Amino acid sequence: MPESHVVISGASIAGLSAAFWLRRAGWRVTVIERANAFRDGGQNVDVRGIAREVLTRMGLFDAVKAQNTTEMGTVLVTSTGKVRAELPFGGEDGATAELEVLRGDFARTILDHLPDGVEFIYGDTIAEVSDVFDAVDISTVGGLSLRADLLVIAEGVRSATRDRLFGDVVDQKELGVNMVFGTIPRTPTDDNRWRWYNAIGGRQIHLRPDNYGTIRAILAYSRGEDLKGLDRAGALSVVRARYQNAGWEASRILDAFDTSDDVYIDQLTQVRMSTWHRGRVVMAGDAGWCVTPMGGGGASLALTSGYVLAAYLSTNPHDLETALTSYEKWLRPLVDDVQSLPRGLQYFAYPQTRLGLAARGVVDKVIASRLFRPIAAKLTRVAETKQVLPALRDADE
Ligand SMILES: Cc1cc2nc3c(=O)[nH]c(=O)nc-3n(C[C@H](O)[C@H](O)[C@H](O)COP(=O)(O)OP(=O)(O)OC[C@H]3O[C@@H](n4cnc5c(N)ncnc54)[C@H](O)[C@@H]3O)c2cc1C
Repeated sequence: MPESHVVISGASIAGLSAAFWLRRAGWRVTVIERANAFRDGGQNVDVRGIAREVLTRMGLFDAVKAQNTTEMGTVLVTSTGKVRAELPFGGEDGATAELEVLRGDFARTILDHLPDGVEFIYGDTIAEVSDVFDAVDISTVGGLSLRADLLVIAEGVRSATRDRLFGDVVDQKELGVNMVFGTIPRTPTDDNRWRWYNAIGGRQIHLRPDNYGTIRAILAYSRGEDLKGLDRAGALSVVRARYQNAGWEASRILDAFDTSDDVYIDQLTQVRMSTWHRGRVVMAGDAGWCVTPMGGGGASLALTSGYVLAAYLSTNPHDLETALTSYEKWLRPLVDDVQSLPRGLQYFAYPQTRLGLAARGVVDKVIASRLFRPIAAKLTRVAETKQVLPALRDADE
């Protein structure tokens, strides 16, 4: 019997996990990535819940752990940098998880351990897709024509192919939070903890150590103005105005962002789709259900999706519809769980007024207290499920 052929668009956590597992299940795998080469870089992500089991089944738990960002706990600080509360740390959960890794390191670890034979096309994107009766025909902007049995869209939150093929069933919900990420030089004032500062006006500042001797900085603020369409300098000047008098390390970070080569500016958008598959096309990772850092667990869900998809395809080799429906049925409760953000979370996470900030301070103290530590640890649990991972039929078995 000829190998089934899958084309996967997007070579990050979801796409590479799907490539890993579908190749193991005996598929011919072609990955198309828009960037000209594998994309390193990116911010801290964590691996939690059922994704830890997927990583173990890949044989990559220790390899990912070895890439740890070196972060040792999370503290909330005042405008002078004094610690006002320390969040629980140690074990699988907590704000700083056992497996904290940079997105690029995580994806590269999967890339480096892919089974032989996965084909890559870099610097190209899908131009047209026609889903015919027994195949999906794909043409690329670069002029390639590919015929496959399945197309997996794993292009992340701003997926263009998703918008083209599933536009009528995609709801993109703006959460009203702007985020600026970047890598900045480490200074003697930095330590190995995630330091988190809230200022009135709904402004957050985060500094997190990485395993490269630099610091990953994030400015996140609510009720942000629309930055779409602005160039980097224009957007940074809007953010600078917003962070005037914010205190703590705001000026240092903004000065460093002016020259940092990896500044990334985005607005938090939840992606909700009423279906993740149609015919021979299926979604994986953020493209299908971006949960945003506000919900958490995006990397864990992206990794898990690749396994679950391949597992159902391996056990339903002649029934694509059943395989894709089962994949969606298994994964959807995990996504729904993270996407249903608690009412008031945004006011708690981004206090606007002095009163709101003071109330937040009280809650932080309670959460950090010894008595409430087990509950606080539970708050960071994502990708938790009582469902058992479906079995995957390995082509070599
Ligand atoms: C600041 C920050 C902190 C985060 N923290 C956490 C965390 O602590 N825990 C957690 O689990 N998650 C976290 N996340 C989320 C996590 O990074 C994502 O959920 C995860 O990377 C999603 O993986 P993905 O493969 O679906 O998409 P992405 O990682 O977005 O990758 C998409 C890939 O597709 C490529 N692509 C895009 N368009 C096309 C196209 N048209 N054709 C071909 N290729 C294309 C892109 O170049 C990229 O390689 C965080 C995210 C951010 C921004």
